Amino acid sequence: MNSKQLLKFLMLGAAVWLLAGCGPTGDRCRKCGMVVDDHPRWVAGLIDERGVEERFCSPRCMFAHWRSPAGAAGKDAWVTEYYTQQRLPVPEVYFVMGSDVMGPMGRALVPVAGQAAAEGFLQDHRGTRILSPEEITAELLREVASGVTPDSATPTDIEDLH
Ligand SMILES: [Zn+2]
Repeated sequence: MNSKQLLKFLMLGAAVWLLAGCGPTGDRCRKCGMVVDDHPRWVAGLIDERGVEERFCSPRCMFAHWRSPAGAAGKDAWVTEYYTQQRLPVPEVYFVMGSDVMGPMGRALVPVAGQAAAEGFLQDHRGTRILSPEEITAELLREVASGVTPDSATPTDIEDLH
């Protein structure tokens, strides 16, 4: 093989490698584009309008999609429970906001099964609110994204976070 042929061979190899690097679209969070399996503790999903399962990097991205016009037809949503790392249907968990636990998107909506466990998590991780899935509206998601929880955070709490 001369150097020209070798160069051709290497370029072909690089092209194949690049193509192989692009996995199926389902492997990326539909909302933010992150690779879902990079954050296995936080994976969430739902069945979309076509009957296809869509996966998201986190409950936050899943809800952001579900509460938008594009995702409103979604159903059978599920999340990865914080303590057990089990996949659970959304109606079976509570979500704790404002805690010191960060997910792939920063401040997390942490899915915890059972009210007692949710209250324990809130205490242990300085959470501010326990939410049922119905309480997670588009407006609340904006509040989580901004990191501001005006109805329960005191100035001292906010200073302690630094
Ligand atoms: Zn995402």
